[in-house]
Amino acid sequence: RACNFSAGPAALPEEVLVQAQSELLDWGHTGASVMELSHRGRDFMALAAESEQDLRDLMGIPDHYRVLFLQGGATQHFAQIPMNFAAPDQVADYIVTGAWGEKAVREAMPYVQARIAATSVDKHFTRIPPRDAWSLDPRARYVHYTPNETIHGVEFQEVPEVGDVPLIADMSSDILSRPLDVSKFGMIYAGAQKNIGASGLVVVIVRDDLLERCPDSIARIFSYAEHAAGHSLFNTPNTFGWYLASLVFKWLKREGGLAVIGERNRAKANRLYGVIDGSGFYSNPVEPSARSWMNVPFFLPRVELEAPFLAEAGAAGLIGLKGHRALGGMRASLYNAVTMESVETLVDFMTDFARRHG
Ligand code: PLP
Repeated sequence: RACNFSAGPAALPEEVLVQAQSELLDWGHTGASVMELSHRGRDFMALAAESEQDLRDLMGIPDHYRVLFLQGGATQHFAQIPMNFAAPDQVADYIVTGAWGEKAVREAMPYVQARIAATSVDKHFTRIPPRDAWSLDPRARYVHYTPNETIHGVEFQEVPEVGDVPLIADMSSDILSRPLDVSKFGMIYAGAQKNIGASGLVVVIVRDDLLERCPDSIARIFSYAEHAAGHSLFNTPNTFGWYLASLVFKWLKREGGLAVIGERNRAKANRLYGVIDGSGFYSNPVEPSARSWMNVPFFLPRVELEAPFLAEAGAAGLIGLKGHRALGGMRASLYNAVTMESVETLVDFMTDFARRHG
């Protein structure tokens, strides 16, 4: 298998894939694949309950939060959040530190007065705006931010303090990457295709009191309260995606949980940033205090070197390194399933490439 640095869909733990393969035709002695069974059957309901408990254990999710396994990608939830928690004449604050935060604002606009309370667009999203420069509105129904910006490689190292207003986080690319105090959030949501499993599944962790806001006027399929009442079985969920997530949660527990994973992720990121900064060849524009552990964009000294870099990397079994089209350059994503050995292979390749082209 290749060393896969894709930003998402992204590398999954090999053990998880091997287990999924071995169970593909006959899952849990049911005589059928998990994707062939009713979501309301006893076996799938047991998987659903156990996976929720595993995620609660891993993240320390308090009892007054619901855990939902939904669909629509994080993008759908950009719109669904204001639909559920605000009204068109109310205000919500957005902290924008990259392209995904910008998209979240755009999708929210039909449903709420979305205010940009802070942005680093003037710095080309290479830092987090200093907290004393944020202009939060105390009337806001919630504050939304993107703890890790997947494209720009900018990550909050601490959960921001926003007073009593519920904090909502798009954790698509950093969920499960390190320990987290869930009680600081009103809602956390994440597309699954990075640290949870396969695309087509969205995990939502939402505080009970926010569910009381969900209006009856929206279609029930969009209502978080409806999905919570139905234990994520309001309609047919992505059963195979949910199953894969359940295997990833078990894998994370076997690996030692988020404290162990977080230390591993810190070490992987430090190794790669160290090589970039020390190379005199590669560069990463993000302020060191805001650098992402999960997504490391980097640039070569000349654009003409990008094609040979990618071709030679591919030939060496290193894939998924092309930067996002919005930013160009390269990007190495270092999600939980990316091993330190893969990072060592990458830095060896990068060092050799720099020596030959520097
Ligand atoms: N938010 C973040 C931080 C992301 O990284 C992505 C996708 O990469 C999205 C939202 C959009 O997710 P989806 O394509 O599942 O809607």
